[in-house]
Amino acid sequence: MPELPDIVVYLEALEQRILRETLERVTIAAPFLLRTAVPPIDSVAGRQVVALRRLGKRILIGLEGDLWLVLHLMIAGRLHWKERTQVSTAATVRARAKTLPAKNRLAVFDFSSGALLLTEAGAKRRASLHLVSGEAGLQRLDPGGLEVFEINLESFAEALQSENHTLKRALTDPRLLSGIGNAYSDEILWEGRLSPIALTQKLTSEEIECLFNSTRATLTKWTNLLRNAAAGAFPEKVTAFRPEMAVHGKYQQPCPRCGALVRRIRYASNETNYCPDCQTGGKLLADRALSRLLRSDWPRTADELEGLSRS
Ligand SMILES: [Zn+2]
Repeated sequence: MPELPDIVVYLEALEQRILRETLERVTIAAPFLLRTAVPPIDSVAGRQVVALRRLGKRILIGLEGDLWLVLHLMIAGRLHWKERTQVSTAATVRARAKTLPAKNRLAVFDFSSGALLLTEAGAKRRASLHLVSGEAGLQRLDPGGLEVFEINLESFAEALQSENHTLKRALTDPRLLSGIGNAYSDEILWEGRLSPIALTQKLTSEEIECLFNSTRATLTKWTNLLRNAAAGAFPEKVTAFRPEMAVHGKYQQPCPRCGALVRRIRYASNETNYCPDCQTGGKLLADRALSRLLRSDWPRTADELEGLSRS
């Protein structure tokens, strides 16, 4: 699932391409994608893009008249960009857009500068689009998690310990913290040498401070890394699995810090990767027992966690 670093880099690429441009039309190829009926989606046509923002893991495209397109890519949703060159007309941009496999194509947004395509791989349809009006409309979609770069250590500690959860769950709960998912939570916990199954209300103040710092450091490092990898081009290779990652997706590979083999704990439809030597005091606890612990600390699926709202 694209998380804060991926979304930030998407937004920077969009700013370069669609800010101050006109949204000429939206073509919805998959009806389940659009989750709102009012305002009608056709009402966006002809409006200029005036703002681009992030709301948790969602991308917000702000249009004249205080209308907001809210895109949630979930796990397999991805964006693609087809530039409109001086010789190509809107029709040829759309024609090229249609060369993408039809089964993956969810929507095409035609701007005066080019076409933004939304695709989703796989059979499950989870990505969503909302069209809402004003800040009140946005607020209804906000799960309420705090922005880790906008808060101090005290607010972070308070949010983290407001409920007693495993660290893995607390970091990825969109009601507590904004923009963190399965991939970067693994990297954050490795960076801080913290166990994914440590309970938030049992943490010492030193551990909380360490988590706060490693959360910021990891998200900053990855935002920079992804920005440099895109090098000004539209980010077409967004993935949760990167060779530079320390533990996420690295099951049975050596930890880059100590060389111990990376382990995994499977739960729900998810898994967490960690280094036993760096993070759990060298203890190799039974996968089954840990899975039970994490599963009991989780809604049934990762989707359900992402879908949790403030209420
Ligand atoms: Zn290690």
